[in-house]
Amino acid sequence: TQWVYSFGAGRNEGRADMRNLLGGKGANLAEMASIGLPVPPGFTITTEVCTWYYQHERQYPGELEAQVKAGLKHIEDAVGTTFGDHHRPLLVSVRSGARVSMPGMMDTVLNLGLNDATVEGLVTASGDARFAWDSYRRFIQMYGSVVLGVDHHRFEEIIEHVKLDTGKIEDTELTAPEWHRVVDGYKEMVREVTGRPFPQDPAEQLWGAIGAVFSSWQNQRAVTYRRLHDIPAEWGTAVNVQAMVFGNMGEDCATGVCFTRDPSTGENIFYGEYLINAQGEDVVAGIRTPQPMAQLKAKPNERSMEVAMPAAYAELVKVRETLERHYRDMQDIEFTVQSNKLYMLQTRNGKRTAAASLKIAVDMAQEGLIDHTEAVKRVNPAALDQLLHPTLDPKASRKLLAKGLPASPGAACGIVVFSADEAEARAQKGESVILVRIETSPEDIHGMHAAKGILTTRGGMTSHAAVVARGMGRPCVAGCGSVSVDYNNQVLSSGGVQIRGGEVVTIDGGTGEVFVGSVAMIEPQLSGDFATLMGWADKVRRLKVRANAETPLDAETARKFGAEGIGLCRTEHMFFDPERIGAVRQMIMAETEAGRRIALARLLPFQRQDFVDLFRIMAGLPVTIRLLDPPLHEFLPHSDSEIAEVASSLGANVEEMRRRAQDLSEANPMLGHRGCRLGISYPEIYEMQARAIFEAACAIGKETHKAPHPEIMIPLVATRRELEITRALVDRVAQEVFAETGYHIEYSVGTMIELPRAALTADAIAESADFFSFGTNDLTQTTFGLSRDDAGKFLPLYVEKGIFPKDPFVSIDPDGVGALVRIAAEKGRRVKGDIKLGICGEHGGDPSSIHFCESVGLDYVSCSPYRVPVARLAAAQAAL
Ligand code: PEP
Ligand code: MG
Repeated sequence: TQWVYSFGAGRNEGRADMRNLLGGKGANLAEMASIGLPVPPGFTITTEVCTWYYQHERQYPGELEAQVKAGLKHIEDAVGTTFGDHHRPLLVSVRSGARVSMPGMMDTVLNLGLNDATVEGLVTASGDARFAWDSYRRFIQMYGSVVLGVDHHRFEEIIEHVKLDTGKIEDTELTAPEWHRVVDGYKEMVREVTGRPFPQDPAEQLWGAIGAVFSSWQNQRAVTYRRLHDIPAEWGTAVNVQAMVFGNMGEDCATGVCFTRDPSTGENIFYGEYLINAQGEDVVAGIRTPQPMAQLKAKPNERSMEVAMPAAYAELVKVRETLERHYRDMQDIEFTVQSNKLYMLQTRNGKRTAAASLKIAVDMAQEGLIDHTEAVKRVNPAALDQLLHPTLDPKASRKLLAKGLPASPGAACGIVVFSADEAEARAQKGESVILVRIETSPEDIHGMHAAKGILTTRGGMTSHAAVVARGMGRPCVAGCGSVSVDYNNQVLSSGGVQIRGGEVVTIDGGTGEVFVGSVAMIEPQLSGDFATLMGWADKVRRLKVRANAETPLDAETARKFGAEGIGLCRTEHMFFDPERIGAVRQMIMAETEAGRRIALARLLPFQRQDFVDLFRIMAGLPVTIRLLDPPLHEFLPHSDSEIAEVASSLGANVEEMRRRAQDLSEANPMLGHRGCRLGISYPEIYEMQARAIFEAACAIGKETHKAPHPEIMIPLVATRRELEITRALVDRVAQEVFAETGYHIEYSVGTMIELPRAALTADAIAESADFFSFGTNDLTQTTFGLSRDDAGKFLPLYVEKGIFPKDPFVSIDPDGVGALVRIAAEKGRRVKGDIKLGICGEHGGDPSSIHFCESVGLDYVSCSPYRVPVARLAAAQAAL
């Protein structure tokens, strides 16, 4: 078996499409080398070794050692130095690289191959003793903490001690002999802590580092990260061993991290940060302030790479073009300049905000790099959500507290918490929190996930907080230096203002501003790139997208977002209005038909006006109106004053009413007197609603000469007979209204399929139905026998333990609930070829459920107004 793949110096055994085997980093290093970019030579140990390692009690396959040796030989031949050689030592880096990037989650060791003898070789070869001893101490420090598990504070203490002793303040002031002293101190400390001397044999060092990288696949942070991002443990990581190049060998050296376009806004500009005379980790560590790449982005006190290193920069600009043309996507790259020579250390598709993802997809299509279909595929529908979220209202009053870097756009408001654990705990209680940290580390990701927004006082645009927040779509203000944070006293202060934990702040991740208290927000813009991409999506999608809406505001929002009709108008939601609830209670509590009719007569004008409004806003688009379907308890009077009010409206006494309310209350309302059961026992209710619908439709038809086509939907049908009875009632009322008004409209009558029995007998039910709408909320509840109202208490545990892959109320269960949907669709179509099929449960706005709906060939999905754009895009992707 080939366990090791070489790259660079004309020997490229891997390719970009081999990322499963080589990990993203290894595959792309090989790809970059093979398209002629300057990549230091190296080799990749495959992810299969990682799998083997965990299956064999952390042992390696027998052939590995020889293959690693051969890989090392390839590097030595290419570079002209020898691993462990005292005069011209080869130094290597050892890095992890999984199939998908897991930033900062796993371990890295640099400068490997240094020991007491080779460090002298490096002194001679580089002509720079200070650099050589600094490199050696960096190596002991990294190897010591990553491979030997020595606490990093122990290293810092030794540096501090030497600084104190010599009166130096900054690392940069330390001389070669002083770094030599640090090295001696490190070695002594490592021997003391681990009971063994620091390993001097480069081969032992190499295997130690390889083992540490493979082990880091199972460290706590990596495990958490995988859980949050749905990455299977079986994938494993690869290990990349590569010749070191040095960005810290003098003023003609540099290192940087950049993006081929702006990852926050998507703007087509070379974007990123670099540092002269520095090694990779210095850029992210936040000790020195990194400088911008492009002069266009430089502030007066900054020195762009374009100005400072024009030749290397020009070369990098060419690399940027080559990479974008080759990968046809925005790249996130790492590079090092050693003695004015550019080396590429990494490229990968860059993480970006939702706004950037949209802009880059549309721009690249317009630049001809990708086609429209590809652009539609590029944007994650779930991420669109971020763009549809509010931003700060420019007119709202506000009190600025501080300003940091605009690290991840969007506005967020919440109470201040100072730890990831507290953020998680309070978010679970339903509170909105802003996580405030000096800086974040991979240990904080659960809290960042739980928070509405993140604020850090240290770190730049590529700091951990910024990168992770952008990936998660959380607004983030980073590097807010004027804010000081006191964890012990749970308080942050800035310019004399103090905010305690639990008090509210608002952050704007688009400007970097932090405000005291809460600031009003406004709706997002839906024009420009958004409209362009949606237009492309609409061209390729087959599924129609409707909205679940009952109020005029919801209906208007739905149309603004591009809904092609209303798929579910829940009429019971129209009855909670204070003006009406009294009449609704009166209707429910009345003991006779005559009593109910009095209450219904009060409700009719309201209900008719509701439908007039809806039909007018929807202007001829289909509107599905569902007749009353409440679990009755939602409407029963509870308080004394409510009971007294109903009593007086019915002319009954209070005690009687209390007893009646008790009689009506059910042990299991979700399976009780609701849906069509209500319409069958009290036909006058459905008669009133049907009348309101037809009178409204005729009125609008007369007024606009464009008659609406209402679709009247009967809920909770289990048997054909239930639908026959209710349908006959609706048809009769229609004829009555047509006769009274002298006006005729087209309408259809259909049913929800939301009970397993209805799904299994859908052929019989279809005889009386013009359409089916799958009510997957109830269908999930009844298929799993899982109460919608109570599942929240234990469902998260089921998901956490992997008993359910996802919450079945969020994402449709394809094997059970989905099977019923499939059966019903097939049976319905067999009886009635043109029966219209839709879905109106919450799943109608969930991208993976929409893929399922496409596979069943439903005609439309219906979801809440804000999810309509998400559904349009997901439907397009499902069709591709
Ligand atoms: C459903 O059951 O899926 C549905 C849409 O109806 P409701 O949520 O109103 O019960
Ligand atoms: Mg339902």
